[in-house]
This record gives sequence, C-alpha cells and structure tokens, in this order.
Amino acid sequence: MQHVPADLPKRIQHFIDGEFVDSLDGDTFEVLDPVSNTAYLEASSGKRADVDRAVTAARKAFDDGPWPGMLPRERARVLNKIADIVETRNERLAELETFDTGLPITQALGQAKRAAENFRFFADLVVAQADDTYKVPGKQVNYVNRKPKGVAGLITPWNTPFMLESWKLAPALASGCTVVLKPAEFTPLSAGLWPEIFREAGVPDGVFNIVNGFGEEAGDALVKHEDVQLISFTGESATGQQIFANAAPTLKALSMELGGKSPAVVFADADLDAAIDSTVFGVFSLNGERCTAGSRVLVERGIYDEFVRRYVERANNVRVGDPHDPATEVGALVHPEHHEKVTRYIELGKTEATLAAGGERPEGLESGNYVQPTVFIDVPPTARIFQEEIFGPVVAITPFDSDEEAVRLANDTKYGLAAYVWTSNLERAHNVGQRIDAGMVWLNSHNVRDLRTPFGGVKASGLGHEGGYRSLDFYSDQQAMHISLAPVHTPKFGA
Ligand code: NAD
Repeated sequence: MQHVPADLPKRIQHFIDGEFVDSLDGDTFEVLDPVSNTAYLEASSGKRADVDRAVTAARKAFDDGPWPGMLPRERARVLNKIADIVETRNERLAELETFDTGLPITQALGQAKRAAENFRFFADLVVAQADDTYKVPGKQVNYVNRKPKGVAGLITPWNTPFMLESWKLAPALASGCTVVLKPAEFTPLSAGLWPEIFREAGVPDGVFNIVNGFGEEAGDALVKHEDVQLISFTGESATGQQIFANAAPTLKALSMELGGKSPAVVFADADLDAAIDSTVFGVFSLNGERCTAGSRVLVERGIYDEFVRRYVERANNVRVGDPHDPATEVGALVHPEHHEKVTRYIELGKTEATLAAGGERPEGLESGNYVQPTVFIDVPPTARIFQEEIFGPVVAITPFDSDEEAVRLANDTKYGLAAYVWTSNLERAHNVGQRIDAGMVWLNSHNVRDLRTPFGGVKASGLGHEGGYRSLDFYSDQQAMHISLAPVHTPKFGA
C-alpha cells in the first residue's frame, strides 16, 4: 500500500505580495507522484503576466519596504526563525518531499535538516560580514558600501527541491534582496510550505514570492524581465545555456549551477572498504538524482577485479522500494519522463559496455518509476554513458594504469562539477585532486560540505561560485566610496 500523506493539498497556487493567488488566466498543470504516477495535485501555471505581477510586488517591497534597509542582525533574526520553523516541521517536510519526488524518506529528512542549516548559516554570515576599507596615507580613505542587488529571480530543479530552494533563498534574503522563486514543475509540493513558514517568521509581504509553472513560460519570463537584477539558476547545462542567451538583452547577473558527470578515482593504495562504501553511496544515494554524483568510477588496474566484484555485490544488495519505507535506499525516480530517459541510457549502455549489475526494473515493483541500481564495467571513455549525465542510479566503471591516465580520464568529459580521489598517498591525493578540472574535490570522502567553501562547477558544470561569502557577494553590489583627506590635485582645464 502506498503511503499518502494526510491533508495533502489538492491545489498549489502562486504566492504574490503575501497572498495566495491563481494564474491570471486561471491555467493549471497536473503534478504526478512517482509511485502511482497519477495526478494528485493541480498547480497554478504561471505565465508572463503572473511573473510580472510577482516582480512588481518584489520591486515595491525592495524600493518601499523595510527589508533591504534592515540591520543585518534584524534580518538574521528572521532567518533564524525560519530555520527554527523548518526544524519543527522536518518530519512533515520530508514526508511531502518523499511523496512528491520519490526520494527515500531518511534521505529527504537529511535534506530538510540541511535546509534549516542553510538559513542558520547565512544568518550568522550576514551578521559577521565585514567589508574592505583602504587608506592612502594623508590622501584618501576608501570603503565598500554593500547594497542588496534588487529583485532576485531564483530558478530551481526537482532534485532535493526544498533544500536547493533554501540554498538560494537564504543568501538572497540575508543580503536584503527581495525574491521571486520559480520551483521545478515536477515537484512544486514542498515549495508550497515556504509561504506559511515565511509569514510566521515575519518576512514582510512582497519580499518572498513564488510563481509556479513551466520553465519555458514562467522561468523564461523571469529570465527576460527587465526589473529582475539577477538570476540564480540550478539545472541542466543545456537550460543554463539557454538562460544565458535569454538574459543577455537585460544584462543580468547570473549564477549557474549545472550538470555533472563526476569522477571518483580509486587508487590501489586506497582504503578499499571505505572507498567502496563511499563510491556506492556516491552514485546511488538520492536515487542517483544528484548533481555531484560520482557517476564515473575510475579504478587502478591492480585492484580492478576485486573492486568490481565487491562493488557489484553491494549494488545487487541495495534496497530499492517504497520511498516512505525507512529501510529503502533507492526510491522511485521523479517522473515517468525521467524514468524513460534513465531506462534509455541503460539500454544504450548495454550496447556500449558490459552490464555487471541491475539494468532492469526491480522484481516485485511492476509499476512506479523504479530502476535497479545499475553497474556498467569496462566502460570506454568514448561511450555516451561515460560522457553524458544520466542523473539516475547508474554507474560507469573504467580501469586505469597510471596517475597520468587517471587524470586524463577524469578530465575527459565536458563537465567539471565534483571529483573524489581515494588513495592513502598524501602527495598523490593532492596532486591528482588539484589537476582534475572540477569545482569541488573530496579526498578520501564522499560529498560532505562545509557551507563556507565555494560551491560550483567549471566547464559545462557552471559559472560562478556560490558558498559562504561568495553567495552574499553574488546577491549584493559592492559600491566603492572614495573620500579625500586633502585637497585634490585637479588639472585646471579651461583656466
Ligand atoms: P532543468 O534545467 O530541466 O530545469 C531546472 C529549472 O529550470 C526548472 O525550474 C525549470 O522549469 C526551469 N527552466 C527550464 N527551462 C527554462 C528556460 N528556458 N528558462 C527559464 N527556466 C527554465 O533541470 P532539472 O531536470 O529540473 O534538474 C536536473 C539538472 O539539475 C541536472 O542536470 C543536475 O545536474 C542539475 N543540478 C545541478 C546542481 C548544481 O549545484 N550544480 C544541483 C542540482 C541539480
């Protein structure tokens, strides 16, 4: 029996200027749950006019409201309240997120906690924020006057939606921006919790607005709106390219967190038990729908056979099933369209490499967007399953013979988001890690984040880094103020 959360809403509306509203044309779209694939929710489908209404409210709150001018401590207090409320609603949040996305409940709970932590972190950071001052002795003092940029357009994907929304909302609001959020159309349910949370925490009307809808309509209108000063986007690289072009006429600041095909490099001198735990978790957690998934595992030839044997054994044991069951390790993929995409890649993989585990629908799960954790071995770097982001529980394993080859293979895709290096040789760990083209590298670890560090990718994985103060920099302008301390020498033109 599928678990259906109590009091599930039947409708999700936009939230504009402190009110829940329908689309101006009344249009809606259906939202499916990934276990039964039936529509359980109607969400308002935003168009240009709805986005315009939300941006106008955000603009007014920015120009006339208290939010941008409040002391950092005052805004931080509100952000901490948001974190408190999110924490008290963890269980409900995770329950809804799991129902809407198919993520295993234990992992959805972890993501809900991270969402609260994002608010707490940026609350602390904005209070501690210091800006540059410079002195030219006897002549000048210069300082930075930091100002929020204006109306922030936030566009988010369907994997861990609530957490990824918090990753943008927290620094944008901490900086004093007002926002319009466009959540992913596959998964609008948990975003529907933000309005009540923000209201309760004391966020003034108009500071936070949501417009639901499709990327090509609501998202596109936000990107092209001339009163939106910046877009923070997380999603596919191809969408990022399109947004980049569409934002050009209005010259917006852009932060792009895009796709990945991240390598996990395992050397023969690695702690093999730890490396196997980590590389299995690294690609199968969050259903493999994870931007930083270590979806290419490169293994040194000397341990290749043993690694593959043990890896396959573990993959075959991963528990796929009902996302609401706390014992489940891999749940259901978000949407039938995405399930079809992942399945197509698995069929392609069977023609490109050797299938060593999975590759089918799991037994006993005849409906729902389930796939077996799938392992391909001896995958040539020319294979599409080596090169392209699959975004599901599918891993490509490839042997290598030297440090040089490991680095070459690691860098042999268009992406550059994350990388993982496993070795007990400290020099090698640093040298190999530093040579990999990736925005983030973990040595002897899976993806464990310190929120102060830069987050983002290189190459096709993104543009610009958020994380820590970099996020606050993105959401604010740093105006240079110059003060003369002595009469200034001015050439006397026309004297
Ligand atoms: P997507 O690009 O299809 O959609 C992301 C968001 O963009 C959605 O809200 C969508 O409605 C909107 N959108 C689509 N077309 C648009 C357009 N023309 N203009 C404006 N908005 C538009 O991505 P997805 O399938 O929802 O998410 C999965 C992708 O996100 C994967 O590639 C994954 O790697 C990436 N991702 C990256 C990170 C990161 O931090 N680098 C984190 C999570 C996910």
